[in-house]
Amino acid sequence: MSGLRTGTPNTAVVIADDRFPFPRTEAPTCCQADPGLFAIEEVTGRTARKKTLAKATLACSGCPVVTDCLKWALANEHLTPTGVWAATTARQRTVLRQGLERRLGPDWIGVVAEQDRRWQEKRRTGRLTPPTVRETVLARLERELIPTRPAPYEPWREPMTPARQEHNVAVLKAALTRAVA
Ligand code: SF4
Repeated sequence: MSGLRTGTPNTAVVIADDRFPFPRTEAPTCCQADPGLFAIEEVTGRTARKKTLAKATLACSGCPVVTDCLKWALANEHLTPTGVWAATTARQRTVLRQGLERRLGPDWIGVVAEQDRRWQEKRRTGRLTPPTVRETVLARLERELIPTRPAPYEPWREPMTPARQEHNVAVLKAALTRAVA
């Protein structure tokens, strides 16, 4: 996956920035399945290139790893001098890098990597942290006290109306008052 787009001479060994591992996917991404589509510099003719670019951009926009791919492509300038990566052209990536440098300073890659690390840490600890007693009580009350008559209420199927929301809040408040008393 990493490296220059198809057909571009790769004369030097360039090491990828290890702060941004390239995102892995279960199934091959579009650019793995059809790398030629993403090597737009190799398409001759302005119209044909424009059409290829539109197709590649569309493919990237449906890619499950587009966000991480963009960070990888921006952080690895020497590995992405050509082609479409995360729906961007080489010129667009240059503009994005310049903008990041202006906003975050010369070590913008380090800043973005640190933000990523913190976000992942937060997600991991969020998943590992068990719910508090109060959260468990609330969840149980929500399950038990939301009325099931006259019609079964299916919260994940039915739209939440302001009236329903108000009613649920009132039920929970009343239940909590009883639980605390
Ligand atoms: S976003 Fe585009 S370039 Fe990046 S992995 Fe997906 S298909 Fe490939």
